[in-house]
Amino acid sequence: MVFFISCKEDKKEVLEKDVAIVEEPKDVYEFGFNLNDYVVKRDTVKSGESFGQILEQNKIGYPKIYHIAEKTKETYNIARFFQAGKPYAILCSKDSLELPESFIYQPNKEEYVVINFKDSIHAFKSRKPITYVEKTVTGVITSSISETLDQKGVSAVLTNKLADDIYAWTIDFRRLQKGDRFKVIYTDKYIDDSIYGGIHDVKAAYFEHNKEPFYAFQFETDSVKGIIDYFSEEAKNLRRAFLKAPVKFSRISSRYNLRRRIAVYGYKVRAHKGTDFAAPIGTPIMATANGTVTKSERRGGNGNYVKIRHNATYETQYLHMKKRKVKVGQFVKQGDVIGWVGMTGNTGGPHVCYRFWVNGRQVDPFKQKLPEAKPISDSLKVKYLEFIKPVKIQLDSIPFDEEVVEENLKENLITQNF
Ligand SMILES: [Zn+2]
Repeated sequence: MVFFISCKEDKKEVLEKDVAIVEEPKDVYEFGFNLNDYVVKRDTVKSGESFGQILEQNKIGYPKIYHIAEKTKETYNIARFFQAGKPYAILCSKDSLELPESFIYQPNKEEYVVINFKDSIHAFKSRKPITYVEKTVTGVITSSISETLDQKGVSAVLTNKLADDIYAWTIDFRRLQKGDRFKVIYTDKYIDDSIYGGIHDVKAAYFEHNKEPFYAFQFETDSVKGIIDYFSEEAKNLRRAFLKAPVKFSRISSRYNLRRRIAVYGYKVRAHKGTDFAAPIGTPIMATANGTVTKSERRGGNGNYVKIRHNATYETQYLHMKKRKVKVGQFVKQGDVIGWVGMTGNTGGPHVCYRFWVNGRQVDPFKQKLPEAKPISDSLKVKYLEFIKPVKIQLDSIPFDEEVVEENLKENLITQNF
């Protein structure tokens, strides 16, 4: 017994010795330097402060400052990019002199510039190591998507990515319905493993709008040009441009023309802010893009007409219908029939007058730069469908929050029953 105790005490002594050794400073690497080898002075550039002034305050004489600036100008013109509010660090010798040996400037969170002037003068630009962390988020819309994401502590950038990049042509985010829900797989960026660098990318998303599912998968269609787009589970490009015409097999009988002169009006200028597509009475009229019906009525020269809002920017309008098929507030998809060609209102023959609104102004849709919807090539489609298989499984297996709650309730009930 005694032997045992003494042995234990021995061990304790050894441990204490170990602790003493550990007290030596640990190596701290940043910017490619072991910061323990230096006296590190960190600060941010003050308003009106120059690179030269800072060096001068740190015991570097003017001739050397001039020399440093001249020699590093080619690699990094620090005088030109020097900006108030940006952080910098000066690495000084770890002796009584504390002479500056390197100057590190951080023009942004990710990049840094090192100017060495201990022995030889040289500068180089580098990046901090970046790591990406995959995350998922789900939510149910109660008022807006930004509010839902905000409650979850997810950056508003994700809202923008979903609304402007991914679903801009599929879902009008200004008209989401209560109960619409979503799942997103995205990546967060971290600089130096610790600094949050924001949302990097959205890998895949699922959005249930008006009970309809909309999948979006990120896919690189051109690795040379680095073209990345989002496609549906059926490989359809989500960046759908508007249909060229609201009616099939039609011809344009009159184009958008602000200086049109018409015989019946005594050849006075009567601007035509639409494009007329002549087609037989009863021809189905289609919504040219997904959206929500904002007008469906018979009024004056317009006759029977429908107006659709597609997103914050675009609206389309369809005039002179024989009959309307949609109601205000109704969500329509691109290609859905919204009415039939007729001759109601001011018209000399059966046609649909198609009007295209951008930010509340009527414009010529044929002169608009609308986002191209490039279909995926057949050979790539096979590759794409293979690629999304595991991603879709991953997406589908993420439970919605309320499902988790329901599961917990079920479990609780079961526990109570037993
Ligand atoms: Zn017209």
